[in-house]
Amino acid sequence: MTDWQSRAAALYDGGFRPMHIGGRWLSAHSGAVMEARNPATGALLATVPRGDAADIDDAVTAARRAFEGPWARFTPFERQALLLRIAERFEAEWETLCLSDTLDMGMPIARTLANRRRVIGMLRFYAGQAVAFHGATIPNSFPGEILSQTVKEPVGVVGAIIPWNAPIAGSVWKIAPALATGCTVVLKPSEEASLTVLMIARLMQDAGLPDGVLNVVTGTGPEAGAALAAHPGVDKIVFTGSTATGQAIARAATGNLKRVSLELGGKSPVIVCRDADIDKAVPVAAMAVFANSGQICIAGSRLFVAREIHAEFVRRVADFAKALHVGNGISETAEIGPIISARQVSRIEGYLAAGRAEGASLLTGGERLTGGDFARGNYIAPTVFGDVTDAMTIAREEIFGPVVSALPFDTLEEVVERANATPYGLAAGIFTTHLGTAHKLARRIRAGSVWVNMYHAIDPAVPFGGVKMSGYGREGGIEHLEEYLDTKAVWINTD
Ligand code: ADP
Repeated sequence: MTDWQSRAAALYDGGFRPMHIGGRWLSAHSGAVMEARNPATGALLATVPRGDAADIDDAVTAARRAFEGPWARFTPFERQALLLRIAERFEAEWETLCLSDTLDMGMPIARTLANRRRVIGMLRFYAGQAVAFHGATIPNSFPGEILSQTVKEPVGVVGAIIPWNAPIAGSVWKIAPALATGCTVVLKPSEEASLTVLMIARLMQDAGLPDGVLNVVTGTGPEAGAALAAHPGVDKIVFTGSTATGQAIARAATGNLKRVSLELGGKSPVIVCRDADIDKAVPVAAMAVFANSGQICIAGSRLFVAREIHAEFVRRVADFAKALHVGNGISETAEIGPIISARQVSRIEGYLAAGRAEGASLLTGGERLTGGDFARGNYIAPTVFGDVTDAMTIAREEIFGPVVSALPFDTLEEVVERANATPYGLAAGIFTTHLGTAHKLARRIRAGSVWVNMYHAIDPAVPFGGVKMSGYGREGGIEHLEEYLDTKAVWINTD
């Protein structure tokens, strides 16, 4: 068994970690720094630069120079080879990357390690795409010998802004398609979780990525993030985070009409029909919301259960929740880690209080864990509320914590309407053994992803994204490349 504790001590010792601009490792112009703390223990891991508009400006200049210079001379096959080399580096460094994430944002080590197939798969998938996309020769209505063809060109400098809940997968999902298409990137990680993203930049530099192709500016949202979203030298913004911040970014992007894709919040329904295989559905429905302590945009936080099986099903989800091992993610047996910050803990506590005050019944959890090992970290017990009605705050707002609202339903018509009665449309889960019901519900739920008798499946080759206020644009699949490409029409008069 790996001794994660001693590896952790060797990885971060509280020292300064510079950011990455134009191939160099730098402090912020202002000299300001931010602390990176372990949410499981409160321990200081490192300090990082608190970059602002001046540093963003340097990074955008470096990204533009690389885009027009050395990177433009890379052929698709060379970009593919580079992505494959990066994938090899990820394989070799996988445990260290995962350990860094567990320390910096709390995700249990068993869960970070389990993301290997997906993350390395992404790098290989986009390596494949680098040589697969192309324009077309199109017949036109002009008389004579006039040829028309399309050419796919990279959009240019991409500004990427990501949250703290999945730094490895989140950053690779922004960087890999940019490298496949020939774009350059200025990446602003979350102020809550910068360390692994800096490690990824180092690893890509070591694999031979030219200077300026990937720049990582650490800093806060209002300072560095807002400057990136508004920068006139950025051609496209890709963002994952809250709906409110997504709206601010879309507004900031109008200055130079940069393209925007947004992957935002959710209040995803999980629908358990009366013919569901209950033994199989209980653990999946429970982990649909509790995985990563509920800090996932696709958390299945509204649990609609057919009235005939509601009491039994919800009781079993509560029993499952009670049995989950909550603890420091560095323990290989931890299933649920800490919440990212004290600020998020207070937000979640506000929802727990609202649930009680508005009349929901608490089946398990409902409080912050403070005893023993929990004392210095940010922990919330997995929580199940029953007797929830659609109008309650906990059934309407994204909590981003380990809290599920159980709601009974009577008919499929009714549950479709209630499941869709939310401003969000990111994901949905359906549990049924009836093929017709599965099809009917999957078609009628307004969401970017629908899972039947499963949850959480996200794959490099399959598009992922939202509708309504969960955002627009798709990541994954062939559609993803289009987000990073412009189409140019070329006309040739051959007479
Ligand atoms: P959360 O706090 O749940 O991570 P946010 O949407 O606030 O959700 O944060 C996601 C990312 O957006 C982070 O990297 C954050 O720094 C950044 N961010 C926050 N506010 C802004 C803003 N006004 N403009 C650009 N980026 C921002």
